Amino acid sequence: MKSLVHSFKDLLFSRKCPICNKETNGTYYICDNCYSSLRKKGTIKNIKNYYYLYFYDKDIKRVIADYKLNNRKNLALELKTLIDKKLKLLIEELDIDKIIPVPVSKKRLLERGFNQVEEILDRCHIKYDKIYRIRDTEHMYKYQEYEKRKHNIAGVFDVSGLDLNGKNIMIVDDIVTTGSTTKEICKEINKKYRPKEIYIFSIAMSKGFKG
Ligand SMILES: [Zn+2]
Repeated sequence: MKSLVHSFKDLLFSRKCPICNKETNGTYYICDNCYSSLRKKGTIKNIKNYYYLYFYDKDIKRVIADYKLNNRKNLALELKTLIDKKLKLLIEELDIDKIIPVPVSKKRLLERGFNQVEEILDRCHIKYDKIYRIRDTEHMYKYQEYEKRKHNIAGVFDVSGLDLNGKNIMIVDDIVTTGSTTKEICKEINKKYRPKEIYIFSIAMSKGFKG
């Protein structure tokens, strides 16, 4: 019984760095060393209309996976401090009028309990407009090829009811791999509205991404 209580306590209170797996001090998940290295690596990079903070390497991959899949919602606080100022500067520089986080499906929202992108924007106090997923899709990681991903995501988003004409828009996602999701959202927006420009911001970007 005692060991059960102990392991339960461990589960509740132990904090291990998602990157190096070291026990952390209990306030934060990411340890000081890994945090400062993330801080240094996190500079705004850009390909075409895509902007991002990190190449999707193993470190940021572990942080985002931990945040999303292990339900460590509080990692949002640490991600927020890494992103906040840089994203706000970018929003100012690009003269963004409207911000749209990529929505998750109802099913995934139930599994996870939160939208990982909205959670970070909320903590940064950045206002956004919502779009919706009309139908569930298969997990994108099942589809490696761009064409298959594109097919899987076609017609999934409902972007109606927004004021996007003549506006500079920024779509925000956590990871961009092939860009099929964000391109589909752009396509839907361009069908219904005449925006000035659409930009994409993601925390991480696949190294092979060509725009
Ligand atoms: Zn660490």
